Amino acid sequence: MQEEVVKSEKMRLVSDMAASVAHEIRNPLTAVRGFIHLLGSPGIQADKKEFYKNICFSELDRAEHIIADYLSLARTDPELMEAINVNVEVEYLSNILLTYANFNNVNLSVQLAKGDAPLTMGDRYKFRQALINIGKHAIEAMPNGGMLELATECRNDIATVTIRDTGSGMTGDQLKRLGTPYYSTKEKGTGLGMMISFSIIKKMNGKIDVRSEVGKGTRFTLAFPRHKPVTMG
Ligand code: ADP
Repeated sequence: MQEEVVKSEKMRLVSDMAASVAHEIRNPLTAVRGFIHLLGSPGIQADKKEFYKNICFSELDRAEHIIADYLSLARTDPELMEAINVNVEVEYLSNILLTYANFNNVNLSVQLAKGDAPLTMGDRYKFRQALINIGKHAIEAMPNGGMLELATECRNDIATVTIRDTGSGMTGDQLKRLGTPYYSTKEKGTGLGMMISFSIIKKMNGKIDVRSEVGKGTRFTLAFPRHKPVTMG
């Protein structure tokens, strides 16, 4: 696939997310502004002062966290093969999608596999791009709000990631075209996002299963071979 095509699709994902990120950063900033105001009130007690100050710090940390997540999405690293913990990546996905989900009246639930870290091999930033693209579509399929469920599971040598929405769903024909170039139902769509996501997942030796029902929703199940680190001694 042409590097330029991959890059411009990534830029589109980044710019689509920008509005919700800006919105989400405005909230902590507004809170901080209010508390600084309160800190300036005459005769304020020391414990109250401390309390307001801590809220300011934690709100600023939240804004910084959102910005850091967003910037890491825009990174353009060369492809790497490294051990990836799918629990960590799905948690990251939930953090970055939370802003977009709130923006679209979508409730988000996350269920992570317990026990040993579910590791697989791949390029972390590309994997993020694939997950975010699938998650973003799931949210956009719920224009009147709904439920987005993110889950990971470990079964023997397989680590799975499930992304499930209660959105518009797809017909059999639409499902067949999903992941093929230039298939899009969006006004400003390029029809390349899913193709890129699928190719990233396949490069990681992942398997993709998509089930969908019109009016009910869609479930993506991504199954990856588990990587077992060699332990010494
Ligand atoms: P684009 O974002 O340019 O439309 P994609 O290849 O990323 O291109 O997506 C192709 C199409 O797949 C979308 O236009 C949308 O119709 C459909 N799609 C993807 N995910 C979902 C989903 N969870 N529910 C319903 N339709 C979906």
